[in-house]
Amino acid sequence: MKTTDGPDQTSPRRRRRPRGAAPAATPPEIRLSGDATVRGMAIGPVMLVLESPAPDIDAAARSDNPEHELERLGEAIERSVRQIERLRDRLAILPEDGQIEIGSLLEVYRRMLGPSRLQRGIHERIVRDGRTAELAVREETESLAQALLRDGAEIGGEDAAAAQRRAGEFREIGQRLVRNLGRTPFRSFSAMPAGTVLVAEQLRPADAALIDPSRIVAVATEEGGSTDHTAIMLRALGIPTVLAAHGLTAHARDGATMVVDGTTGHVVIDPSAETLEAARRGVADHARERQALGRLRRLPARLSSGEKLQLQANLELPAELPLIAQSGASGIGLLRTEFLFMNAATMPDEDRQAAIYAEIIGTMAGDTTTIRVVDWGGEKHSEALERAGLNQEGDTINPALGMRGLRLLLRYPAVLETQFAAILKASVAGPVRVMLPMVTVVPELREAREIYHRVARRLRRKGVQLGDTLPPLGIMVETPAAAIMGDALAQEAEFLAIGTNDLTMYTLAVDRGSAEVAPLYHPLHPAVLRLIQAATEAALRQYRPISLCGEIAGDPRVVPLLIGLGLRSFSMTASAVPRVKKVVRALSFEDCRRLAHRVMEASDVTEVTGLIDDFAAGT
Ligand code: PEP
Ligand code: MG
Repeated sequence: MKTTDGPDQTSPRRRRRPRGAAPAATPPEIRLSGDATVRGMAIGPVMLVLESPAPDIDAAARSDNPEHELERLGEAIERSVRQIERLRDRLAILPEDGQIEIGSLLEVYRRMLGPSRLQRGIHERIVRDGRTAELAVREETESLAQALLRDGAEIGGEDAAAAQRRAGEFREIGQRLVRNLGRTPFRSFSAMPAGTVLVAEQLRPADAALIDPSRIVAVATEEGGSTDHTAIMLRALGIPTVLAAHGLTAHARDGATMVVDGTTGHVVIDPSAETLEAARRGVADHARERQALGRLRRLPARLSSGEKLQLQANLELPAELPLIAQSGASGIGLLRTEFLFMNAATMPDEDRQAAIYAEIIGTMAGDTTTIRVVDWGGEKHSEALERAGLNQEGDTINPALGMRGLRLLLRYPAVLETQFAAILKASVAGPVRVMLPMVTVVPELREAREIYHRVARRLRRKGVQLGDTLPPLGIMVETPAAAIMGDALAQEAEFLAIGTNDLTMYTLAVDRGSAEVAPLYHPLHPAVLRLIQAATEAALRQYRPISLCGEIAGDPRVVPLLIGLGLRSFSMTASAVPRVKKVVRALSFEDCRRLAHRVMEASDVTEVTGLIDDFAAGT
């Protein structure tokens, strides 16, 4: 969230009035609403940045000189790579969160411009179909984008949003290549005076990478949506943003004063004196809220009644590490290692994995890192893993119930052995725990433990120094079977972590990725809550550490209930840590326990949500 105030930014730009002319009437304020994308409020003069028209591509054009087209394509790729590198060089001026988001996106672009499927497709269209380079680029990027959108629409939910983002990446890189093929200039944000509100029809993610957050106080666009990549990046930059404010470019003029309220999604052009006054108060309120959350980072996560909690972060990409440090999280409660196997043709070998884990563990400076071995399977496919022998074929009917998680690793133990060995080697860098995904029966855990010890013995024989005791080996509780068998599993697992994302899916028989059944997906369903309670109590009876690392761990409304059920450790997306900490510091254990008691008597989700909402309103 970004806030700003200051005299220059709040007064409309004055235009000179000819002598003797009547004073111009103050234009009435215009209110528009759009997607509230990045929290915060800002006031400033508008700078309209309209898109220069995209180059026309003749769909009928053919070339009988494919070598020449390939050469032009090669040059356009080189120019695009250089531009991406220049954008990367500019990252240092951005706040840390922005560096992470934009850095990862630029990496995606760079990979697409490398020897990728995209490049192979464009080449084929030039050589096989006699297309011009421009047409080949447009057809190939569009066909990849369309395929993603189709798949995304079928799967629905968060996957649909991810597919949309990825489709946008293909289109973005396609437009960049076409502009570079025709040497059409890109629009520039470099001449923007400090304090400007940037108004555009649409912002591409690469445009967001050009924004200097010390000059631009807010962003408002006519198109776009709050889950696309541009939105994610503006969020990382902390610039108050409203996207999809229809009618914006028709009403906004250069220099007009604009209020952007990224919390409510409102945009006001030529605000009245009262609107301006209210907006100034909003700016000050947001500045205070931001400061307060920042101060929380250093405060302990403790209930008002004294009990200490552990608030950790989930990590999906190493690039998120600085965010974790900023959030005040006390360790990584779930390191999803799938990133190592994504977009890769070959598996990273033992030493490469060990180096990556050691770097992450070292960065956590004494706080524990919980590494989950790869949770692959179901609808997710990895070329690297398939080449390494993990064949998931045959699981097309019910992939979520087929070969996935630990059962897949046990069928193809070489991948598991390599990962165990890499984690063990890296464990000299700091405290680490090893976690197994999708456990359903005790023998699976035993088999994995045998492999773990065998790998450790092999390493020791080879002279690798490991500590006297190996890092704890624990399990995820993501299936009703694991929750119900918590007692038996807790006897053999050294720690447990409840994964409510999958636990909800398997308990309610509702696919977590399906838009069609999304209204039935309720992590607060009493059946799920009973399983959370059963697993927690089972672990506590055996004195085993237990945490919760599904999405609900980052919801400040739900955490009091989870504390009341006996949980003390939560792992969540890094940005949620300060907000959860703020709420828990005001809670007493007795209040949480009473809430849990009432909730566990409820028989449906509406009753549960009513109780937790009432509790939140009263705290
Ligand atoms: C879960 O299932 O709750 C979980 C944390 O694992 P993932 O979201 O990676 O499946
Ligand atoms: Mg899971």
